[in-house]
Amino acid sequence: MFQGRSVSITSALMRQSTVRSRCECQARLVAVLDENRFVITAYCVPAGGEKEISPAQSMGAYQKNFDIGWLCTNCGRNVLRSFFVDALIWAEVPAPVVLTKAD
Ligand SMILES: [Zn+2]
Repeated sequence: MFQGRSVSITSALMRQSTVRSRCECQARLVAVLDENRFVITAYCVPAGGEKEISPAQSMGAYQKNFDIGWLCTNCGRNVLRSFFVDALIWAEVPAPVVLTKAD
């Protein structure tokens, strides 16, 4: 891939926030949000178990009070939790690397 050509790698910072809750089965639910409060990735950690990717979605992300819905991969419940935007803690993290061909 890109043999004989130079490749430049650019990376920028993006803001992310991680929200956490518990399912009724006591599994930990985690979602990583971008600065628009959309879910980048989410996972479920059962008590004494290993982390599993969990489908999750933000609802009403443009509002101060918004919801995250997870599918708990431990018990199968759909879990809805509410969050307040001013309570989120933000971190600057490297954005995904973009490879560009430098001709
Ligand atoms: Zn559960």
